Amino acid sequence: MKTRNYNTLFWKISLAFFLLLAIVGIAHTYISFKYSKDYIEEVNQRLNHDTAKNIVENSTPFYNGKVIVPALHEMFHHVMAINPSLEVYLVNPKGEILSWYPPEKNISLKAIDLDPIKEFINDKSQHLIRGDDPLNPETKKIFSAHPLMMNNMLYAYIYVVLDGQKQTAASDNLFADYLLRVSYGTTAITLFFTFLVGLLLLRAITKNYAKILSVMQQFKQGDLAARIDIKTVGSEKQMAEMFNEMADILTTNIDKLKEVENLRRELIANVSHDLRTPIAIIRGYLETLQMKEKTLTDDERKRYIDMVSQSSVKLEKLVNELFELSKLEANQIRPNKEAFIISELLNDISSKYQLMARNKKITIDTFLSKELAPVFADIALIERVIQNLLDNAIKFTPENGNISITTEKCVNDHIRITIADNGIGIPEKDRERIFARYYRANNYTDLKNSTGLGLAIAKKILDLHESNLELVSDEGKGSAFIFRLKCN
Ligand code: ADP
Repeated sequence: MKTRNYNTLFWKISLAFFLLLAIVGIAHTYISFKYSKDYIEEVNQRLNHDTAKNIVENSTPFYNGKVIVPALHEMFHHVMAINPSLEVYLVNPKGEILSWYPPEKNISLKAIDLDPIKEFINDKSQHLIRGDDPLNPETKKIFSAHPLMMNNMLYAYIYVVLDGQKQTAASDNLFADYLLRVSYGTTAITLFFTFLVGLLLLRAITKNYAKILSVMQQFKQGDLAARIDIKTVGSEKQMAEMFNEMADILTTNIDKLKEVENLRRELIANVSHDLRTPIAIIRGYLETLQMKEKTLTDDERKRYIDMVSQSSVKLEKLVNELFELSKLEANQIRPNKEAFIISELLNDISSKYQLMARNKKITIDTFLSKELAPVFADIALIERVIQNLLDNAIKFTPENGNISITTEKCVNDHIRITIADNGIGIPEKDRERIFARYYRANNYTDLKNSTGLGLAIAKKILDLHESNLELVSDEGKGSAFIFRLKCN
């Protein structure tokens, strides 16, 4: 397949190239031939320019104002004896042929065109001029002509047709032949070498294309690591680079898609597990309550109802988070931005978390700047971000740990907010990925309480505020999540 493609391209261009050269060759040969022929005839016409004049000057076929026909024929005969290939005509001023020699030849034309004859007589520079051939009406031949005057009046023209082939001097023939041969020879050699060099160049060019095609084929067949390695410069290199870049983008996208697909599968497994657990608990306790309705003590009944209640809260959280993230990802949530004091919001939230933290023997300290400018953001969404970060901080900080919430002054139109803990920290290899949805790092201990959605939601909300969620973490020592909000 690879070779066939390569050959098709190569042979197609070669054939086109060959045809082009053949056309050039034929055109060149035709032009050389035509001009060589013209050259021979022009030389011949020049050499014999005065033939008709000589005939006229060396004879007097008139007597007492009349033409003496035998004298005329005698004169023609005399000329023919010197050069038998000539045909001599006596043409009146209207162009009609009055007489000719040799008389045994059958002429087809009764009259000839006088324009070339007049041009010949008037032309001092002796250009190539062809006139009618009375024997062959279709052909034009070189000639010599001269007016025949009687009593100072134009009586007729002597029109001598010079048969080029026979008449040409041997040296002229030789020269013209030589000229033609040189012309054919140089054409043939030029075309041959042009074709040879052209083929070599073509091969060099198509070689790169063949390489490109073969790598593309490899890629198509599933070898996603196949890349084109071309050293030359120019369009092939550009093409190769473009393909390589395209292949890189494609493979990266495929990798991303695979990763998303894996995460999606993982989520379905996790979510179904996470949903099943609280549902099973709720069902189990409800069945017990139904079956043992009469035998249960008040305490037992209260404990069972508490368990049902806790599990339904967990279930609700999970369903809500999933719903929230899918709405955020589908861009269905538009932030309703307003100005508010972030330290007040942080104060409120931290008070709510104090109880939960105390239960785990964790302290929450706030370091909030007093003269903070208001931030411009969606208060409910930012509350969600802070809650998710605090949930995580509490979840991943062991007993007797500490969490701090810090805000700084408005600098460059932004306030920096940091939520830090001295918990278990995040392994370096997970630091980039924890923001992806469904991702849970290896440090994760409490599967029951986790959806892997909290940070993804927080990041998406901050995206809507043109802000970023940054992480600074030290495994075993703690983590700090930082984000900035616009202030004025
Ligand atoms: P979830 O907490 O529900 O698992 P998140 O998206 O909020 O989901 O967090 C993703 C992962 O990031 C967590 O599973 C955990 O591995 C890691 N992580 C988040 N916050 C912290 C933190 N403060 N300390 C240590 N690890 C954390």
